[in-house]
Amino acid sequence: MSLFEKKKKLIQDLIRSGYVKNELYIEAFMKVPREKFVWPGYEEEAYIDTPLPLGNTGQTISAPHMCLYLLEALEVKVGDVVLEIGAGSGYQAALLAECVAPSTVDRSLWGHVYTIEIRPELAKFAKENIAKTGYSDRVTVIQGNGSLGYPPNDPTERYDKILLTASAPDVPPPLLKQLKKGGILVAPIGKGYFQELIKVVKLESGAYKRMFLTTVAFVPLRGMYGWREYDEEL
Ligand code: SAH
Repeated sequence: MSLFEKKKKLIQDLIRSGYVKNELYIEAFMKVPREKFVWPGYEEEAYIDTPLPLGNTGQTISAPHMCLYLLEALEVKVGDVVLEIGAGSGYQAALLAECVAPSTVDRSLWGHVYTIEIRPELAKFAKENIAKTGYSDRVTVIQGNGSLGYPPNDPTERYDKILLTASAPDVPPPLLKQLKKGGILVAPIGKGYFQELIKVVKLESGAYKRMFLTTVAFVPLRGMYGWREYDEEL
């Protein structure tokens, strides 16, 4: 089976299993080449529904079903300005970019994706992947500690959507501040191998509505508002 055939079969399976429904997200999946975001040597495994290791960093590119489920949870739409904490390979950021700024839509309507990565070697990897797949105009990769938001500790309500792809003890307060009213934040919360994926909606009143979505397995968030015990590994 060619990579394209594997990709088509995978999306059909994921639609059937209910992980993705929105046509915008299905098209984004078909457009973004996951084989160009996996670590060199894993290209043939790009369309198997599994997380894959990012070199020897101990970090992973999430499984395709999880990447699509996160788009549904965030209710991403054209024009959204999105912040992702944990760029990793840059793949989720590229999927987000295809949703908020599809190539078929006039540029004046485009949103933008900001993605932060704490590990310098992965920030470089994500940046290269985003550049070679043509998303540099829609995705900004930043090296730093994303739990402080971007710009760090800035109090402006600037993002429509915020996604954490590393698990935190709780939602970092600077991220809630940077969420616009009506905005949505999705994050894995908790310690250990499994965590709770939660969705937080910032209401027009400024209050927050918090919902449990499902159980997930993400790598830990580091730095301030993350799990400080992992910091010495950096
Ligand atoms: N979304 C990625 C996968 C993320 S894995 C993809 O599509 O490939 C989680 C990533 O979060 C790891 O690369 C890890 O280094 C990063 N990370 C952990 N703590 C962080 C922090 N405080 N700020 C930014 N990135 C962080």
